[in-house]
Amino acid sequence: MRHSGRVSSSKKDRRKTPPPDPAPLPSLIDAHTHLAACGGRTAEDVRAILDHAEAVGVSHVVTVADDMVDARWAVAAAHWDPRAFAAVGLHPTHAADLDDAARAELEEMVVDERVVAVGETGLDYYWTTRSDDCADPATQRDAFAWHIDLAKRTGKALMIHNRDADRDLLDVLAAEGSPDTVVMHCFSGDRRIAAECVDRNYYLSFSGTVTFNNSDELRAAADITPAERMLVETDAPFLTPHPYRGQPNQSYCLPYTARALASVKGLDDEEMAAVLTANTRRAYAVTLR
Ligand SMILES: [Zn+2]
Ligand SMILES: [Zn+2]
Repeated sequence: MRHSGRVSSSKKDRRKTPPPDPAPLPSLIDAHTHLAACGGRTAEDVRAILDHAEAVGVSHVVTVADDMVDARWAVAAAHWDPRAFAAVGLHPTHAADLDDAARAELEEMVVDERVVAVGETGLDYYWTTRSDDCADPATQRDAFAWHIDLAKRTGKALMIHNRDADRDLLDVLAAEGSPDTVVMHCFSGDRRIAAECVDRNYYLSFSGTVTFNNSDELRAAADITPAERMLVETDAPFLTPHPYRGQPNQSYCLPYTARALASVKGLDDEEMAAVLTANTRRAYAVTLR
């Protein structure tokens, strides 16, 4: 996710206040976060973020790159701490950076044993009209096709970013042919899109948006998604779950969203957590230490 914009000074105070710790819910995996953007610059920073997460039951995280600098950093972070895995790729907004050198470097990085997914890649039509440095749709589509092929060649999961591009995104995946494992990160579609993803055996990864007051359709989409196809993520530092929307998000906030999913699915919190974690391990083919 990419967010920007000015905020009023009263909102600024709230933006700096971290949400309280949720009651622990073992043993969850944050399927998509951005540790560097959460303030994790050094190995010590990363350890502190992951210690905090572990204290409420979030045992592992997948830290996701959105540009080349971030990709190098994500691989390094995954080697610093056994609780972190990495995903590498160019965010669709940065698709224009995918030159020969970037391709060669990503090919090398993705085979690293700590890298569990290719991405985040996909289509983002929100920023194309709002940011001058966002890649145009044709460039995004070409880069997306390259990442799809990379996932197929390496057997790693494909981590999809989709913003305001449901139909084109599913059409590109159908035209190129989906890899074995596709994760729809921060799933934001309606019931129809959810049903199509389930039909294709994709995983739908739900973020804090599923807790928002105005997300009835997204909760309906979660309701028709079999529990076995669901993952849970923070996309931190963005998309902090209700009622802390707008405050800084980190992996320790994951239990709030996992509990919201349990409530949608009518499952016990612990039962939901166990299913989500089993799904995440299967999707990313991770062996946990
Ligand atoms: Zn994203
Ligand atoms: Zn993200």
